[in-house]
Amino acid sequence: MDARHARYPFLASARTAVQEAGVDLADVVQNDDAVVERALERVTTAVTDREIGEAAHSTRVELLSYPVARVIVSLVDENILVRRYAQGEANTAYERFRDDFTTDDDLASVGGDERVSRDDLLREFDLRDHVTPTEEGFDVGVATYLLLSSSIRGEDWRLVNRRLDDGRVPVSGLELDDLLRQAVEDRVADGLPLSVPDAIGSELGEAVSEVKTVLSELDLTRDIDTVVPELFPPCMTNLLERVQRGDHLPHHSRFAITAFLANIGLSTDEIVQIYEVNPGFGEEMTRYQTDHIQGESSPTEYTAPACATMKSYGDCVNPDALCDHISHPLSYYEAKLDDADEDELDDWRDQNDQSEA
Ligand code: SF4
Repeated sequence: MDARHARYPFLASARTAVQEAGVDLADVVQNDDAVVERALERVTTAVTDREIGEAAHSTRVELLSYPVARVIVSLVDENILVRRYAQGEANTAYERFRDDFTTDDDLASVGGDERVSRDDLLREFDLRDHVTPTEEGFDVGVATYLLLSSSIRGEDWRLVNRRLDDGRVPVSGLELDDLLRQAVEDRVADGLPLSVPDAIGSELGEAVSEVKTVLSELDLTRDIDTVVPELFPPCMTNLLERVQRGDHLPHHSRFAITAFLANIGLSTDEIVQIYEVNPGFGEEMTRYQTDHIQGESSPTEYTAPACATMKSYGDCVNPDALCDHISHPLSYYEAKLDDADEDELDDWRDQNDQSEA
């Protein structure tokens, strides 16, 4: 276990080092408070600040806090936490590797071997054969580019807005580092939530409650009541378009879109208004169904179907990269809202208000 592993605990070699040291995670969570505390800090700081806080002085504590943090995230088992935590780890790694890339060897103080080079990271993520240095920057194979850029926000990243030379996309050094940041985020999120043995889970009850409290204080549900059609999951966009084209929708599809709109905060009147353009959606029936879904005329408030159900009915259409990380259309929407800036949301709200006026 060396300083580089503590600094970049997602590296395959860091994992091997932990395994080779014969670390028993159950023993660590039971007896090593410093590791559990640092793990908890990694997770809570990721939720609140989207980074993971100051590194511990001890290399051992810093490195072992990473697998323990992943266990805590798994025990809480919330999509939004997995995303925030992976973003936090990736943002801190980005700061560190950018610092490493730009540190002049002659000026580096001690412990030069704790640093990584861009080439090290390209090799780590099996990208070496897909990225070629050029005079202006780098050329990235289009498949690799698409894989990594699809989760990055911003029109500049869309392939239609890029030059494409013979199956390769030219990027600057800074852009390549953004792609590497995304590779780290994907690596951290990979496999989460883990299945956690009871012996480990039972020792982390307090840490799990603390993370749940931090999450609830963030009031992430506040955003889900914001209606931004631009951020709807592809399946719901498709159903909404079909409603507005006047298509006849089978019962399961109609239930899915109506429940989704009700769950994100639309009133019965608003849903009736959206469906007005489709003569197949009689107002009376729409009102009855929507009230029923919202629990007005029934004892239950219904939730839109999960992705597995949507798939089994053929309602999962055009899934995108984010769909790989979620299991419910509401989680997709929640994640998109979480990623959007307040300014962007304000713009969308203004646009919607104007179009309604
Ligand atoms: S994976 Fe889920 S959220 Fe994505 S399109 Fe399919 S049903 Fe919708």
